[in-house]
Amino acid sequence: ELWACTTCGACMEECPVLIDHIPAITDMRRHLVLSEGKPPDQANESLEATLKDGNPWGYPKAERLKWATDAGLELPTLAEKKTVDVLYWVGCAGAYDPRNQGIAQSVVKILKAAKVDFAVLGKEESCSGDSARRLGEEYLFETLVHENISTLSKYKFNTVITACPHCFHTLSNEYPDFGGNYNVVHHSEFIQQLLDEGRLNPEKTLAKKVTYHDACYLGRHNDIYDAPRNVLGAVLSDESDYIELEQSKSSSFCCGAGGGNMWHEDNRGEMVNNVRMQQIIDSGAEQVVTACSFCMIMLDDAAKGMGKADDMAVQDIAEIIAERL
Ligand code: SF4
Ligand code: SF4
Repeated sequence: ELWACTTCGACMEECPVLIDHIPAITDMRRHLVLSEGKPPDQANESLEATLKDGNPWGYPKAERLKWATDAGLELPTLAEKKTVDVLYWVGCAGAYDPRNQGIAQSVVKILKAAKVDFAVLGKEESCSGDSARRLGEEYLFETLVHENISTLSKYKFNTVITACPHCFHTLSNEYPDFGGNYNVVHHSEFIQQLLDEGRLNPEKTLAKKVTYHDACYLGRHNDIYDAPRNVLGAVLSDESDYIELEQSKSSSFCCGAGGGNMWHEDNRGEMVNNVRMQQIIDSGAEQVVTACSFCMIMLDDAAKGMGKADDMAVQDIAEIIAERL
């Protein structure tokens, strides 16, 4: 089934004859969407919202900084500063999803604690286009790319950081094809750098059996495996509390949200996020740490849906650092 694929990359990782499954599946989706006008119904709502409001949730663009103002956070924007060292690309999940808003607040706390010269785009930021492209809506994807590149061209910055592996992948690997060349760094690597430079000194007070879930778009698609583990290791009171999942790193098991599946349900068989959460529970972990906006939503939903929310904390690497500064 064409729409069930999460573009997790597991098949391409294992394929002995190097078949490129994901590009073939995405091409077929493009045909269904652009030539036959047949995206999945639910996904179509998010695509229309992205076209109209610049985000798949369909919230007003004017509220893109509400997550910060509601929390009383003062945030510099690029419109005010024009030139900064670091642009923090918040992404639609960080801006609008309640669980991810907490992660965005943690990233800001970290940037301020480390005295990083940073700013956000605020209302000028639009969806990076990841879900649109994976869902075959190439026209919408390219519209978003050109809009964002045009916005970014007005300002000067050395580095773009983002907590979302989907934004990270799209900005760093796909924007260059359209003339958008940026030094994009995932927040796991940026936080590790700040720790290495001694600019952050979190307390080593995480005293639970804890594991890390590899996001496909961070791990398999971009080979970032060590940085999030190193960041997690920086707050463990006892390193032996870390549990590696059986399916981890390049063999990781997707949470189920990639490939645009965040925006439509496939009700056949068991929910992928529940399967992954059961693997996490079976490992003996009492807490799971992620570094992906979509993984956070999927694993958090799974823990709640399975009645495990009180026994299994799901946190982002930025949160475990920020709350120990
Ligand atoms: S879901 Fe993953 S393993 Fe299955 S076809 Fe898509 S990319 Fe391949
Ligand atoms: S949401 Fe996370 S696990 Fe799922 S495809 Fe994206 S990166 Fe992979």
